[in-house]
Formats: sequence, structure tokens, C-alpha cells
Amino acid sequence: MGQDDTICAIATPAGVGSIGIIRASGRDAFSIIQPLFRRYGEGKEAHPTSFKSHVVYPGIIIDPATGKPVDEVLVLPMQGPRSYTGEDVVEIQAHGNPHLLQRILSLLIANGARMATPGEFTRRAFLSGRIDLSQAEAVMDLIMAQSRYAEELAMHQLRGGVSAHLLTIQEAILSVLSRLEASIDFQEQGINIDPQDKIIQGISQCNLLVDNLLAGYEAGKQIRDGSAIVITGRPNVGKSSVMNRLLGEDRAIVMPIPGTTRDTLSEWFSIQGHRIQIIDTAGVHTTTDPIEVEGIRRGEAALQQGDLALFIVDSTQSFTEEDAALWDRIPCKKKVMALNKKDLHGKIDIDAVRSQYPNDPIIYCSAKTGEGFSDISTLLFSLLVPKEEGSGQSPLIAQLRQKNALNIASATLKRAEQSAREHTSVEFIAADLREALDSLGEIWGETTTDEILNQIFGQFCIGK
Ligand code: GDP
Repeated sequence: MGQDDTICAIATPAGVGSIGIIRASGRDAFSIIQPLFRRYGEGKEAHPTSFKSHVVYPGIIIDPATGKPVDEVLVLPMQGPRSYTGEDVVEIQAHGNPHLLQRILSLLIANGARMATPGEFTRRAFLSGRIDLSQAEAVMDLIMAQSRYAEELAMHQLRGGVSAHLLTIQEAILSVLSRLEASIDFQEQGINIDPQDKIIQGISQCNLLVDNLLAGYEAGKQIRDGSAIVITGRPNVGKSSVMNRLLGEDRAIVMPIPGTTRDTLSEWFSIQGHRIQIIDTAGVHTTTDPIEVEGIRRGEAALQQGDLALFIVDSTQSFTEEDAALWDRIPCKKKVMALNKKDLHGKIDIDAVRSQYPNDPIIYCSAKTGEGFSDISTLLFSLLVPKEEGSGQSPLIAQLRQKNALNIASATLKRAEQSAREHTSVEFIAADLREALDSLGEIWGETTTDEILNQIFGQFCIGK
């Protein structure tokens, strides 16, 4: 796929809208639009002889074959490199009728432009060096973001938050590597550039930086994709009522009969702009009913995948050993206990439960009256959304591709550090450091194959 040609696409979503945008990018973007466009000005319309960059031109698109006007538009030319792709770009704001937009697109194609492939505008921005690969991925994340936090995360990455951190790591590795390479040169002369412990320290410092970035993956992924809360507990404790209360609607069937929820039921909602999938599960108890057995198995599977378990206890009954066993068995890293049915002033000994689990979050609440639910929301939010998020301090990563590359870099650096401790030949250590650099380079696209680029940009929509 050459970059000499000019590409074009409709940039706005399919369907009717008040306006629709078509854009073209490439060497001939300006000359392709010129014969199709008559600008308004001083009482008469005329084809512009030239375009000033970043100036909006009102006018009409005409069909050169018939001379008939097609639409009244605004044309915005942007001369490279000051454009999204780094090339000459023209955006045409037309009326948002899909047929009209298609006609204008066809005119551009008839005049020498080519239909863009998915993500080709962003790919060109990457190839022209306007953005690196992690920023290109952030463009995709920003378009797809489903919450304010996901938007902020993508925006931070788009503005080079991850790239800046990677650059620091790259520089740290290069500094150790250059000293190692110097010591290879001077080895024969018996001159030692760095003592062994300094090399070990240098490599371990690099590793720490990589591991810090890796540590932000789970949180980053949760912010991008949302978190999953799984509601669990014995039958009839109020799990479905808690789900409905959190959703603010009667989504799950609530019945005084145990075993109403037989399958898992899931819904999305948000707390303070963070997207949360809430999953109601079948009550856990001993049963031989095959449907219930399967429901309980599905609930356990959901718990394995969940980010947080919300364990409901019926406060009108004593806290049983069965409750304790279920609570201890929860596989999620984060869990909250809700002692439900507070309005019934039941016989549970709250203080005893709290002293049994002094370090675990326990809330006394009522799904019926809503008491305690603002505390539950605040608690869930603080447990699911990392505090540093959005502050720009901690670079969170959200793409699996980036995590995998960092994992390789981390493993290679650990191997290099081990080699340094074992006095392995300096050449081996240097080779590992170079391998770690290559893995990091994959993240911002320095050492990326065409196949990976196709994979990344193939996920974009046409026109982006
Ligand atoms: P699940 O089987 O754990 O999902 O429990 P449900 O949500 O179906 O509730 C079981 C019964 O307890 C129903 O009759 C609910 O109306 C009742 N219930 C649930 N939460 C409360 C609460 O906070 N207060 C009172 N008084 N009743 C509740």
C-alpha cells in the first residue's frame, strides 16, 4: 500500500445526521477537491485557485459531469505536516444524508482519490511520525471509550503519557548498555568501566520501571473495559434486591421463595462515571436439582472472572459458619460484605462479624429502604477505580499487546540481571538488554512488523 496516493472516506457514522464529514488525505488532496468545489465570495462562486491552510471555505460541491450543485458545504484544508495524518488533508462538512455523502465521496474517487482502508488515516499519521503506535491505539480507545475515566485514560495515552514513560525506560537501558559495550571494548586492555554491582543496580532499576508500568495494567484494563461485580451469597438473603437497588430499577425478579435466580443475570450501570457490569448469581446452597447445580456452577465461574465480589448476608439471621465458609472461599481479589435487611432490625451481631473480619469492608444496609447504599457505592468506586487515575502521575496501560511486550522486556531484564550476578559474559548481558529494548520498541512501533500494524489498524473504522 503506497503512501503516494490520496485516500478518502466518510468520517462520520453511517446514518442520517445534521452534518456528515468526508475527508481526504494525501499529496493531491487539495487538487482533487478544487474542480469539485466552488467557493462563495464577493457575490459569485468560483473554483479556488489555491487554498490557505486551516481556513474554512463555505461553498458548494458541484458534479463536474453535469455542472449541477450537489450540496452546500464547508471545506477545511489543512496543509501537512499540520494535519492529523501529517499529509495534506481536506475535510468537507456536508449535510448528513448518507446518499449525499456517498455522492461526494464518489466524485472524489472519480477525480483521483482512493477509498481508505480501515484505520488508514491513523496509520498514515503513524507512518509519517506524527504519533507513535501507543498513541494510535489510544485514538481507537478514545473513540470506543464508554466512561469518563476510560476517556481520560485514552487521552493521557494519546498525549504521550505512556510513550514518555517508555522513553525514560529506554534511556535507562541504553545508559547501562553503552557502559557495558564500552567495557567489552576495553576488556582486552584489562580496564573495567563499571563494577559488577553497579551494572546489577542499573539493570534492576530498569526492571523496576518496566514492572511499575506493568503493575498498572489491571487497573488500566478495568478503566477501559469497566469492572465486573459479582453478587453472591446464600439463597433469599436479598441478592436480586441489592442488584435492583444498585441499578435503580426492577431488573432481577425478587421473590420470598428461595431459588428464584437460577441463572446468572448481568447488567451495566455506572458509579460516578465508571462503567460496572453487575452480575447476580444463583444462591449458593446444597442441592440436587440439576438446574440449580448448574446455576451455582455458573455463579462460581462468574466469581472467578469478577473484579469484586459483593457478598450478601441476611441480617435477620445469625452469621452462620456457612456464611463464613462462603466468604473465605471467594476467589476475587476484592470483596465487600453487605449485611442486608437492616430495616428488619434482625438478630445478627454486627460487632461480632466486624471483629471476626477486622480488615474487610462490611456494610449494614437495606435493599428495601436504600439505607447504606450510598456507602456501598462510595466503597465500590474507591475499590474499583485507582486513586492515581486521571492525575497523570501513574501511567496506566490498557492494551494486552503492550502488556505482553512489557512482560517480555521484564523477563529479559531479569535474565540480564541474573547473568550479571553470575558473572556471565558481558556480551550475553548486552544481548539481553538489546532484546529488552526491541520489546519496548514494539510498543511505540519502532520494531513492529507489517502484520502487527495490519492487526492494530484493522480494528479501526474506515475514515479514522
Ligand atoms: P435472593 O434470593 O438472595 O436474590 O433474594 P431476593 O432479592 O429475591 O429477596 C428475598 C426476599 O427478601 C424477598 O422477599 C425480598 O423482598 C426480601 N428482601 C430483600 N432485601 C430486603 C431488605 O433489605 N429488607 C426487607 N425487609 N426485605 C428484603
